[in-house]
Amino acid sequence: MTLFEKIIARQIPADIVHEDDHCIAFRDISPQAPVHILVVPKKPIPRIGEAGPEDQVLLGHLMIAVGKVAKNEGLSESGFRVVMNHGLHGGETVPHLHIHVLGGRSLEWPPG
Ligand code: 5GP
Repeated sequence: MTLFEKIIARQIPADIVHEDDHCIAFRDISPQAPVHILVVPKKPIPRIGEAGPEDQVLLGHLMIAVGKVAKNEGLSESGFRVVMNHGLHGGETVPHLHIHVLGGRSLEWPPG
């Protein structure tokens, strides 16, 4: 069971801001911006590069959820960033696909 499956199963507490049949969104335990939320599919796809054609609808669903979460956090006007980390060079630490939603401050580009 992945760490995020344990959060989905309420075995580990999290500050959940959205949940539906296919995904959950909760605040990152180590926020890198005033708003830092992870949008996570309930299906434990390890990382984006391992998603398959069967995940097409789910991935679209996650992106719509990102927009809803950002809007609920009041980020629509000020802006926000959406990040997915794949593997070592991407900085992935939890092998369960997740989308970072970061906002509430101006973010630099390019990332470090
Ligand atoms: P990654 O580095 O894999 O892209 O992102 C994993 C994220 O999960 C990190 O930003 C990390 O702070 C967050 N994280 C790790 N463990 C926990 C946890 O137990 N609870 C919550 N809410 N976030 C976690």
